[in-house]
Amino acid sequence: MDIKDRVLVVEDDKSIRNFFRTILEANNYDVIMANTGAEAYSMVTSQCPDLVILDLGLPDMDGMKILKSIREWSAMPILVVSARTHERDKVEALDAGADDYITKPFGTSELLARIRTAIRHARTAYLTPQGMQTGIFHSGGLTIDYDKHRVYVDGRDANLTQNEYKLVSLLGKYAGKVLTYDYIIKEIWGPNMKNDNRILRVNMANIRRKIEKNPGKPEYIFTEVGVGYRIVDPD
Ligand code: CA
Repeated sequence: MDIKDRVLVVEDDKSIRNFFRTILEANNYDVIMANTGAEAYSMVTSQCPDLVILDLGLPDMDGMKILKSIREWSAMPILVVSARTHERDKVEALDAGADDYITKPFGTSELLARIRTAIRHARTAYLTPQGMQTGIFHSGGLTIDYDKHRVYVDGRDANLTQNEYKLVSLLGKYAGKVLTYDYIIKEIWGPNMKNDNRILRVNMANIRRKIEKNPGKPEYIFTEVGVGYRIVDPD
């Protein structure tokens, strides 16, 4: 028998809770529920969920507070679900350590894909030494060879510069997840780099010219406007 992944849903709206329960149980997850921030705190520590789905608008506290406090001691995957659609809220949640951010209303298949991605990341993070990525990433015609530090498109070397390679491999390491501009800049150019998106945009434009058939309609690296970039899931 398969061991089910346990998902903690932190949500005060009864109809949304029921929706989550139905969808998740139908897809073989073990579902536990918290209505308030206080309940969420105690369940996170007592029930050891494999993933937390976190609503930001809770009756007793802001979900951001729970997110930040879990991140002080745990790397468990947290998927923020919110009615707040402003880019600033997404950036804030992602930079505070949310694995992903999904805006209400959302589709079932999108939700399930995001859950699978977040749980997979949490698992693979334990398998490779921190910061190190080895092996091969494949998605359609795109290949990242982490051992050789090369990127290929349809078998041809894309001839990326060192920083371009770093950027693509960073996105590849977190495939399917949006990385914020600020996070990417700090990872690639270091913590003292000023938070200027221009250098990142220039690099991304050059990467797209090298790897995308139509840089205006990318197939491999997507822009989440005002938030950051995301690379496609591997095959
Ligand atoms: Ca709510």
